[in-house]
Amino acid sequence: MAELHWSTIQAAQAMLRRGEVSSVELTQALVERILAVDNDVRAYISLLPEEALAQAEAADRRRSAGDDTPVLGIPLAIKDVLCTQGVSTTCGSRILENFVPPYDATAVARLRAAGAVFLGKTNTDEFAMGSSTEYSAFFTTGNPWDLERVPGGSSGGSAAAVAAGETLGAFGTDTGGSIRQPAAMCGVVGLKPTYGRVSRYGLVAHGSSLDQIGPLTRSVEDAAILLGCIAGHDPLDSTSLDAPVPDYQREMKSGSGLKGMRVGVPQEYFAQGIEAGVETAVRAALDVLADLGAELVHISLPHTQYCIPIYYLIATAEASSNLARYDGVRYGLRVDTPTMWQSYYDTRQAGFGPEVKRRIMLGTYALSAGYYDAYYLKAGQARTLLRRDFERAWEEVDLIACPTSPSVAFKMGQKIDDPLQMYLTDVFTVSLNLVGMCGISIPCGFSDGMPVGLQFMGPALGESTILRAAYAYQQATDWHTRRPPL
Ligand code: GLN
Repeated sequence: MAELHWSTIQAAQAMLRRGEVSSVELTQALVERILAVDNDVRAYISLLPEEALAQAEAADRRRSAGDDTPVLGIPLAIKDVLCTQGVSTTCGSRILENFVPPYDATAVARLRAAGAVFLGKTNTDEFAMGSSTEYSAFFTTGNPWDLERVPGGSSGGSAAAVAAGETLGAFGTDTGGSIRQPAAMCGVVGLKPTYGRVSRYGLVAHGSSLDQIGPLTRSVEDAAILLGCIAGHDPLDSTSLDAPVPDYQREMKSGSGLKGMRVGVPQEYFAQGIEAGVETAVRAALDVLADLGAELVHISLPHTQYCIPIYYLIATAEASSNLARYDGVRYGLRVDTPTMWQSYYDTRQAGFGPEVKRRIMLGTYALSAGYYDAYYLKAGQARTLLRRDFERAWEEVDLIACPTSPSVAFKMGQKIDDPLQMYLTDVFTVSLNLVGMCGISIPCGFSDGMPVGLQFMGPALGESTILRAAYAYQQATDWHTRRPPL
């Protein structure tokens, strides 16, 4: 019982079904764990112990009445950019510090309907803009493997909570890597679904053509379970795909794992300033894939060098437009002044942090008359070329394997004053968001005592393929079973 907080979702599910543990006991164990370690880790912006225990009681009642779902009674955490009815949703920003949404995001509503238990809302860079969680307006989350280092970002709170045993699983969002990169840095699994696979309704928008919600977990199987709960068409999001949702857990285990899979190894992802220890761990993982029967194919994604500039033009342009709604009239903070315009200025001046302001300025510039063609339009054209790189790759390979991040988690403060260095940590992740395809990061070793992530990239709606490869890798290795010394 003592180690309930380290259980996987799959194992907890089995215990709940056999009646060996109740959701109340499970939730209690997680709440105790949070109280024991979150003063150091600081993964949560808001904690909901009473609500969680009430949800757990309700889940236990549902189960005794004969009900069952994959997440019935399972304690989970939600990144604080997803709207939760009646529970504050800050987006890590002063401007939404007191915002309480009157509705649930579709992903949250689906989990709630399935009887999941919500432990709390996790820390994030302000409006999910950042790679270290240091741009949260409230505090920085520590990496459970070394509290003086960042957990990655922007879903750093979710990744740290999973890594520290402060939840069984969590949800994050990924606009340019914000699920995969913190998963890599904290030694957990993070899956970014295909654009449109999961409804964005109720996700506070960052870059609307890039954003996706996805799970962070301690095993690949758990990621498959959680993805199945939130995927599927939603009439409230016009970009959500009307495609059937497979049984990911079953498809992941079907076939013969990595045997016969053609795995592309893109040369560009082993070049750009990658840390030696990261490269060593990822290359060792490639050897494991080959041992498991995968055929490694050397490929090229020639437009990779343009990923960061394309992303930081498109993401900031979309962000500048999405953030225009925060003017103190309808949501959150309002600085009252005698004139309307002054109130807008003062509200935004007081409410947004420096990184968000930088992006609003960059994005507004890229969209402005006279510069639009040179920046935003050009970025869109280059994005098409990037998509063609990937389409060509899918003619040759089933999936692509590469590092998730060029470095392991860095020290707090190391990159905070150098935005370009911070942006470059996304060099291996932004491509998938730009092309709308899916990816997963799984632990594959350590460098400098810190976890290293292996990324599998798949084509649109290729979630079953990347899950199958990741599951086969985890069956053969034990990196995902390592726990930080907290
Ligand atoms: N780090 C990237 C950025 O700052 C990605 C963020 C994200 O995926 N939400 O935009």
